[in-house]
Amino acid sequence: MARKGRNFEPMTRFTGRFPDISGNTVNGLGEGEQRQPSAFFWHPPDRQTHSVLQKEVIDYHRRSAEIRKEFSSEPPGGRGPDPVGQAQQRSVRSAYEWTRSIKDFALANESDLVGITALKPEYVYQGYEIKQPWVIIIGVAMDYAELSQMPPTFENPAAAVVVAKEYNRAARACRLLANFILSRGYYAKAYQGPYASALNMMPAAIASGFGELGKHGSLINRTYGSSFRLSAVTTDMPLLADQPDEFGADDYCTRCKACSNACPPSAIADQKQLVRGEQKWYVNFDKCIPYFGEALGCAVCLAICPWSRPGNSENIIRKLAKRQQK
Ligand code: SF4
Ligand code: SF4
Repeated sequence: MARKGRNFEPMTRFTGRFPDISGNTVNGLGEGEQRQPSAFFWHPPDRQTHSVLQKEVIDYHRRSAEIRKEFSSEPPGGRGPDPVGQAQQRSVRSAYEWTRSIKDFALANESDLVGITALKPEYVYQGYEIKQPWVIIIGVAMDYAELSQMPPTFENPAAAVVVAKEYNRAARACRLLANFILSRGYYAKAYQGPYASALNMMPAAIASGFGELGKHGSLINRTYGSSFRLSAVTTDMPLLADQPDEFGADDYCTRCKACSNACPPSAIADQKQLVRGEQKWYVNFDKCIPYFGEALGCAVCLAICPWSRPGNSENIIRKLAKRQQK
């Protein structure tokens, strides 16, 4: 069972598999210049520096039969359909009409959130290419009652199983949407977690109105807090972009310490850090990942975040509004 408390000492099975380079260096911590993110954890072994550590983490998590079962849900079952061929004939509609159709389809087919943004170079990992101009981001909510049983253990892996289950739903959602677009004669590519490829979903999700980056390094959405997972589709279908949704979460994080106090290895910084030319909330990878490995995915910071408690975000937003009026 993963040990709780601030005196956490990482297991050597994980610390012994770190390469010479720090994960924070790979992520660009302390760098003053903007640049594309480096391919990193969850990328294929030949594209990243920490593949030996990643394999150890995955092997350790797969000792849990429940986690193994969820993550072995391959297509055509749990992870959704394979891609269909792109239709020869393009259906012609306005960007407004396609945007409506895309959102209606996504929300009726496994997605809880959907947003659209124009592709920017900083959404693409170094060494990859995306040619389509639009990114459609999908969000699927995680059951808070299950997530809040964190950290997962071999005796009670509920919080890890719900993460795996929702990664599968997010995969189904993006594959179904990609097929909808392909069948209308436009190109579409689906991106599903937990493994990463060309698209860095987090900044695209912020731009497409999913919410703000929290101190714990994850998104805070005004409805689901941090209790949701992402997937995405890139496409050349004509679409309209959404706007970012700023509702005070970033400001709230400057006063809240719930996640930084609860994080067993003290990986969450209480001040923003310079990362690839931008001051932002940052989680120390080298401290987080040994606990993440031992605690089967951890999720302590996601569940402890007050925005994640169902129904609580309305209260927080109301309080923030009142404070602004004073
Ligand atoms: S997942 Fe969150 S709470 Fe867990 S070790 Fe990492 S930063 Fe800390
Ligand atoms: S727990 Fe508090 S500080 Fe951490 S991300 Fe949530 S609101 Fe921000």
